[in-house]
Amino acid sequence: MRVYNFSPGPSMLPLPVLERAAAEMTDANGTGQSVMEMSHRSGDYKPIIEKTETLLRELMSIPSNYQVLFLQGGASLQFAMVPLNLAAPELPGQRRRITLIDTGIWAKKAADEASKYTEVNIAASSKDRAYTYIPAAPAPGTDDAYYHITWNNTIVGTKWPAIPDTGSIPLVTDLSSAILSEPLDVSRFALLYAGAQKNLGPAGVTVVIIRDDLLNRSIPERIPAMLRYDIHNKESSMYNTPPCYGIYIIGLVLEWLKGLGGMEALGKINCNKAALLYNYLEANKTFYSPVEKNCRSLMNIPFVPRETDPDRKAAIEKRFVAEAAAAGLVNLAGHRLVGGMRASIYNAMPIEGVKALLAFMEKFEKEAK
Ligand SMILES: *Cc1c(COP(=O)(O)O)cnc(C)c1O
Repeated sequence: MRVYNFSPGPSMLPLPVLERAAAEMTDANGTGQSVMEMSHRSGDYKPIIEKTETLLRELMSIPSNYQVLFLQGGASLQFAMVPLNLAAPELPGQRRRITLIDTGIWAKKAADEASKYTEVNIAASSKDRAYTYIPAAPAPGTDDAYYHITWNNTIVGTKWPAIPDTGSIPLVTDLSSAILSEPLDVSRFALLYAGAQKNLGPAGVTVVIIRDDLLNRSIPERIPAMLRYDIHNKESSMYNTPPCYGIYIIGLVLEWLKGLGGMEALGKINCNKAALLYNYLEANKTFYSPVEKNCRSLMNIPFVPRETDPDRKAAIEKRFVAEAAAAGLVNLAGHRLVGGMRASIYNAMPIEGVKALLAFMEKFEKEAK
């Protein structure tokens, strides 16, 4: 029996995608090979990566002056690659400062990594209230190399309520846990990146969407080739062997998303799923959402017992997570740094999974009385 997996990542994949991958495991497209066994430069593989890119462009309405790269190293490597490529620390005349908004642990990691190469101006932070809101975005410095935001904060469950206006300063975003969750105007950003294992496919692929003008900057020679956007772009993500199988699975996921009706339809489905949980929490006597209303994530929904005694609270959380798992609802523990519970409901989580969670919560509350 398949469980409903509420993991923040790696996370659920759509069953039809897994079944199709299984059917094609030993013989993909009549080639007599698994996609895993194909040369990445072969005529068998090329249509697979091309189809994946085409579908991503179509679904996200990516303008033609943006390039799509399939890289490795996760979003975490982008924390370094972005400043290395865009804040060119060693070149004379290059901008040496970035502005970053601190909305949680991943934003802080991006700041820490960037600060090894460039000056980081943390212009606003929501740390004062445990990252449960998105602060107002101050204007960028006129000389900033870029402005960085974490669009959806996977751990605390916040999402930017609107795209900040940074004028001519390139806006960069970590889109890992929200890519393809609802319509998003790509043209408002200069660079977007996302690890695949949240809402796209298996771990091992990182998607980077980058505007052409950012590729044309001169980058210091000593930066490793594998960390240069311009090289990956020139080689169409084949400077070295790309994560071929992961890219293939992403392609299948994108086909499945297209079949659901594209981003407008998907945004509605995800809003409906999230609303079920938020509405339930709204009136609830046992649990609540710690996140401010105007910036609640559609993808990651933390909920916390109202119980304030720390021991009793911890006991409730432990029992909830264990009993839910026994009922086939797995990975509901909150992040180890924030506690509580968290339901990650990415695209592949069907509404039936959310309803099963609500039914379980009701039962849990009754039994607690
Ligand atoms: C998971 C996550 C990361 C880290 O991703 P890796 O691919 O493991 O490096 C970074 N940012 C956000 C917003 C995430 O959700």
